[in-house]
Amino acid sequence: NNITIATLGSHTSLHILKGAKEEGFKTAVVCEKGREVPYQRFGVADEFILVDKFSDIVNDDVQQKLRDLNSIIVPHGSFIAYAGLDRVENDFYVPMFGNRSILRWEAERDLERKLLSESNIRIPKKFESSAEIDRTVMVKFPGARGGKGYFIASSPEEFDKKIAAMVDREWITGEDIEKAHIEEYVLGCNYCIHFFYSALKDEVEVLGMDTRYESQIDGLCRVPAKDQLDIPADPSYVITGNHPVVIRESLLTQVFDIGDNLVETAKKLVKPGMNGPFCLQTLCNDNLEIVVFEMSARIDGGTNTFMNSSPYSYIMFGEMMSMGRRVAREIKNAVEEDKLEVVIT
Ligand code: ATP
Repeated sequence: NNITIATLGSHTSLHILKGAKEEGFKTAVVCEKGREVPYQRFGVADEFILVDKFSDIVNDDVQQKLRDLNSIIVPHGSFIAYAGLDRVENDFYVPMFGNRSILRWEAERDLERKLLSESNIRIPKKFESSAEIDRTVMVKFPGARGGKGYFIASSPEEFDKKIAAMVDREWITGEDIEKAHIEEYVLGCNYCIHFFYSALKDEVEVLGMDTRYESQIDGLCRVPAKDQLDIPADPSYVITGNHPVVIRESLLTQVFDIGDNLVETAKKLVKPGMNGPFCLQTLCNDNLEIVVFEMSARIDGGTNTFMNSSPYSYIMFGEMMSMGRRVAREIKNAVEEDKLEVVIT
């Protein structure tokens, strides 16, 4: 075939491009000048489209180059952040793997909660106002900011005190406070579950799991308790890396149920559905309930923990299978079955 698999050079592009090559595709990377080194040194890209800034990927000339290469774009978190959702939905004319309409459902908290709750998936209880706080809660502000400025409170008074301190330091504005999202703090262990929904086979696969390595919260665990008390401010949750993880085998039934339910709801709410990779960020509590606090409706950064397979993707395929390679395999199968329109939008 003469298809090129292309993406923005960031996030998960190394294994997207490597996987595409393994499945016999040509590859292209759109990259900010000066950031191309990993793609050259790891030898994963056949074509380099160098731009002044990442957001230029939506410029007409770049889109034309991608179309000339007969590209299919694989969207990832950085691609969406730089291209902008409006452009991706309305004037990005390069075929995209998966369902571009579902990307908004991960970006807007109310849509995300609707999709999860209509799938009967357990999500953290939401508090409409700080006056209702009757247990430990986590307070989040709009937009993914790597958990910067998130804080924990256990009463309305503690909420007010912490908000006042943040306003004093000019960390947040009045508008942020109005949009503050208050949810139950789930005390549990973190599993970010990487699913792949094959629209060709109508089947949900579990390809891997990771857990997050976040600054400062994970650094704080290395400080003795006595000294932790001397460290001011609420710790941030800035993602700096990921660890691979496996979940208790007896929980896998719950994992598949969650994935299946979400896929069925997405088919109804956001046609054509949750096609391709998606990730649920979860916390598993001591009742062994999996609580979902965040969703990615595309390939998630934690898939970098299994560029060379995870225990799950190996069990499933019996060969090295990354999420990037799984995407390319789906495109290859679609081409062979003459069903490319099923896997792209
Ligand atoms: P991302 O860049 O991953 O989208 P974000 O800024 O949207 O990050 P979240 O992923 O929502 O932030 O949360 C950051 C971290 O806070 C999580 O990794 C998790 O450790 C913790 N966390 C989030 N929600 C809860 C919750 N309800 N209970 C307990 N911990 C939570």
